[in-house]
Amino acid sequence: MGWIVHKFGGTSVADARCIDTVASIVTGTGDGNSAVVVSAMRGMTDQLLGLIDRAVAREPFADTLAEIEARYTATVGELLDGERAETVLAAFAKDISDIHSVLKALSLVGAASPRSRALVAGFGELWSARLLTATLDRRLGGRRQVVFVDARKVLVIEAGEMGPIVVWDETRPKLAQVLPADFAGIAVITGFIASDREGLPTTLGRNGSDYSASIFGALLSADEVNIWTDVDGVMSGDPRRVPEATVIPRISYNEAMELAYFGAKVIHPQTMAPAIAHRIPIRIRNTFNLDHPGTTIAARSADDNGAVKGISGVDGVALINLEGAGMIGVPGTADRLFGALREAGVSVMLISQGSSEHSICFAVPESSADRVRKVVERAFSVELEQGQVQRIGVTRGCGILAVVGDGMAGAPGTAGRFFRTLGHSGINVIAIAQGASERNISAVISAKDMTRALRAVHSSFYLSAKTVAIGVIGPGLVGGALLAQLAEASARLREKFNLDLRVRAIGSSRKMLLGEPRIDLAKWKERFDDAEPMQLDAFVDHVDTDYLPHAVLIDCTASQDIAEKYRGWLERGIHVITPNKRAHSGPIAYYEELKRLTRAANVYFLYEATVGAGLPVIQTLKDLVETGDEIENISGIFSGTLAYLFNVFDGKRPFSEIVREARARGYTEPDPRDDLSGMDVARKAVILAREAGLPLELEQIEVESLVPPALANASVDEFLDRLADFDAPMAARVEASARAGTVLRYVAEVDVRGGTARVRLQSFPKDHPFANISLTDNIVQFVTKRYCDNPLIVRGPGAGPDVTAAGIFADLLRLCSMLSGNQD
Ligand code: ADP
Ligand code: ASP
Ligand code: MG
Repeated sequence: MGWIVHKFGGTSVADARCIDTVASIVTGTGDGNSAVVVSAMRGMTDQLLGLIDRAVAREPFADTLAEIEARYTATVGELLDGERAETVLAAFAKDISDIHSVLKALSLVGAASPRSRALVAGFGELWSARLLTATLDRRLGGRRQVVFVDARKVLVIEAGEMGPIVVWDETRPKLAQVLPADFAGIAVITGFIASDREGLPTTLGRNGSDYSASIFGALLSADEVNIWTDVDGVMSGDPRRVPEATVIPRISYNEAMELAYFGAKVIHPQTMAPAIAHRIPIRIRNTFNLDHPGTTIAARSADDNGAVKGISGVDGVALINLEGAGMIGVPGTADRLFGALREAGVSVMLISQGSSEHSICFAVPESSADRVRKVVERAFSVELEQGQVQRIGVTRGCGILAVVGDGMAGAPGTAGRFFRTLGHSGINVIAIAQGASERNISAVISAKDMTRALRAVHSSFYLSAKTVAIGVIGPGLVGGALLAQLAEASARLREKFNLDLRVRAIGSSRKMLLGEPRIDLAKWKERFDDAEPMQLDAFVDHVDTDYLPHAVLIDCTASQDIAEKYRGWLERGIHVITPNKRAHSGPIAYYEELKRLTRAANVYFLYEATVGAGLPVIQTLKDLVETGDEIENISGIFSGTLAYLFNVFDGKRPFSEIVREARARGYTEPDPRDDLSGMDVARKAVILAREAGLPLELEQIEVESLVPPALANASVDEFLDRLADFDAPMAARVEASARAGTVLRYVAEVDVRGGTARVRLQSFPKDHPFANISLTDNIVQFVTKRYCDNPLIVRGPGAGPDVTAAGIFADLLRLCSMLSGNQD
């Protein structure tokens, strides 16, 4: 009869309910033979090893032992009764008394040999296997044979350089004794434990039950090995660190091995060897979600899944660097180094050598760093003394981040994207290694950056949507329009571009609404009424959660206070997008500080909507400057309000009436003097000047205000009432202009060459581009070295919440494409 192996990890046998679930899975798997390999109950092995440490340190251990007893006894009580319970508990009581004796002896000696550790650590597997055997027997009521197999009586292993090796010749006959060829039924086998050649108890190493399962799979020539655990399968990243990770349906043995080696705890790396040798497929399945098909690990992976299959990370790594001019061109240095390490039994996790041969660096578990340093010092003592080797550097607190996938071989650009993403996330790469198989690219980084790095790299490889956390400050007209546009576009962006724009916080000066994992944009308005009081620090922390790779704050206010926060945000690595002109037109020192920050750190600061709303003004100017053009002059109409007023004002109706009408239509600020003073236009002129390389301050701009000085301090109503008193001079100007065949326009002009800028009412011939704009259009004209005879003109609607919001949205998408490390 054919065999299927099922292995249940500690999480699957954590308590009585779990064990009951396991029993029902096993009894439901059909009539074939099942080998059920079990781990210790969750946490049990740790607790047993903890007991040894306490005994060795001569600390009391009775409490922990009592805890173990209570837990097991209670679990047995929930699952069994009568004779079955008694038998299981009697065996357990004997084990506890043995453990007690061993611990007492260890505390007298004050030390524990690896053998005593292995003996005590292995009891957890015996207990869960006995309990499961009895539970299955109870369920089946004799309908099928259920036997308990103590793997120490079967499995013989010896220590190998790369971990335990099975002594097949000794193991096979022993197995045939407990499971003869005509066996039919269920064998419950202890995971993790085995015997050495002397017949003494040993283990397969931490998390070794997976390895046990595939060893028994090979011994029994099983059709399949099922590893049952608490996740749906092998995921593209550790779900506890990468919440966006998804299940990989099919991967190759090699891919699984690399992922496991670099920290994907879901499967033990050595599990693969026996399975590969016997071509047994391994399936990872979820004990608690039977509907999920899980992951199949087999010789070939599915090739439809992109180059990168998964990302994993190990912490607790130290990097050792051997450096010296005397090593250049000297053959055998690496050989000596790794020979010495091998002799000392140190396993090296990663090696990297520059082609100059000036240094070799390698990664080892942090716990062995001191020992390794001594080994290397000893091996190169002569060279150190003579100065051929200058330094043995040890960097602790590192981790290894690895991207894995068979399809990476021959797929150019994978490494590029990997490192670009790390760079964009501000993560420093200390060392790099790529195996010749190209199945794995690894980077050594600081362990404290690991979670952030995993998330950023994960999202950049399309394993999950590219996710950006967003906070919107100022949900007024423009902010509100932006939220509406985001709500409408989000499904499409997700589907088409795999882009997940998550608005996590919306805040006004008084209130803030926070959402986990996001705010439902269809309902934010209703919920905003009952939102909590605004606390800017909490708001920013909520957006900048370390569980998402990128955060952006969008400032839709016109507030000076908020603009002053940008520096802190950028320093923290939060991107900033804004239509608020304050930061760019305020003191130049602050502006330059912000620019410096965006160059030094990998953060972006985008502000297209500060000038011309959604029109591509800033971007156009940036492109000109960056491609080496020289800007000579920038002029234009930068105020939708003033554009409208002078489009309509032809002298037939008084100017004051037109202002009133524009205000009623919502084309002006509530106080029209904010527009008429020209200060808004002047701020835009400053922004453009600075962008073109001219370091102007707002005060240096010559501004012609259209507010009569006598009305500067009046109330709004009074101003509107009395504006008519000043209609005469305006009428005179428009008539004079008309007589000359020209029209009046309120324009800004930045003379980049001359270093000056002014804002004023000016006459233009009727065929001038500035004379031919409609309604609230903005127009900007760039005269440059390239565009000299025929200037470059950007023109179009330049005011209103929707177009301004669209400008911000465009910045947001630009940000996403820069962040995702793609050129596309
Ligand atoms: P068991 O007790 O069943 O052996 P483990 O705790 O040893 O379970 O392994 C399962 C855990 O491995 C999961 O709960 C998950 O947190 C972790 N893990 C790490 N990396 C991955 C990954 N790439 N895919 C799935 N799980 C992973
Ligand atoms: N119980 C052992 C451990 O915790 C083996 C395993 O669970 O795989 O390491
Ligand atoms: Mg495990």
